[in-house]
Amino acid sequence: VLVSIMCGCNNFCTYCIVPYVRGRERSRLPEDILAEVKELAASGVKEITLLGQNVNSYGKDLEEPCDFPDLLEKICAVDGDFLVRFMTSHPKDASKKLIEVMARQPKIAKHFHLPLQSGSDRVLSAMNRRYTWESYYEKLAYMRELMPEITISSDIIVGFPTETEEEFEETLRAVRMAKYDQAFTFIYSPRTGTPAAVMEGQIPEKVKQDRMKRLLDTQNEIMLEKNKTLIGRTFTVLCEGVSKYNDNMYTGRTEGGKLIHFPADRDYTGEHLTLRVTDAETFSLTGEIITE
Ligand code: SF4
Repeated sequence: VLVSIMCGCNNFCTYCIVPYVRGRERSRLPEDILAEVKELAASGVKEITLLGQNVNSYGKDLEEPCDFPDLLEKICAVDGDFLVRFMTSHPKDASKKLIEVMARQPKIAKHFHLPLQSGSDRVLSAMNRRYTWESYYEKLAYMRELMPEITISSDIIVGFPTETEEEFEETLRAVRMAKYDQAFTFIYSPRTGTPAAVMEGQIPEKVKQDRMKRLLDTQNEIMLEKNKTLIGRTFTVLCEGVSKYNDNMYTGRTEGGKLIHFPADRDYTGEHLTLRVTDAETFSLTGEIITE
């Protein structure tokens, strides 16, 4: 179940239209969010996803101080058997405090979506992202140090105006180092009204397509390799329903957000199960039920 905690964005990444159409950041009051979470938990909801364009700057506009890690602690104190997820996080605002709260709280799913966008500091600056690859990577390393099981996903844009071949290769290198469990990849396309849309040095379509293919090949190889290491492991999985591709199989997600298909003799939708991984592919796992 999705719970919106704030709307708007103050960041003005040069490719993005959100701050122009949604306006500046506005946080909901913690007591209103908590009341909604309590109601959901009492009704038996198993997963709650907190939503905002940049959840890490939650609370900056509130009179009574309550930052995002504080809000997470309050939510985790609510009675009930549920997991908390959140998105999206801006890397410049993902704090050590947030990572530490995540590591400490069993109710927070051990999955972090941290959009990198580019592995080149020059391109990141042209995007107005206000972090460097090095500072970004330090945060990933700290997450993995405190939570070795954490899964990490990202968004990547290829073909941002002026991106050179060398800068694109820096992104490939970053992706190999980051070893994402999942990456949402985008070919840059201009949004009218944004600074990047009128920048000189727009990249030809063919070059963008070629970079995208190389990025996908690299990322797919990493995902398959990582998924294969999970064969034989057991996971708690929330069943999401019948598989879209096979009526005889059900689909669920691990705490880290990995998709897993498994056979079942009844409908477990909305329930937690323990599964053992029996096979792995690039985008999903196959498993069998160990306990209900
Ligand atoms: Fe804000 Fe995200 Fe858009 Fe950047 S990409 S302006 S952080 S909504």
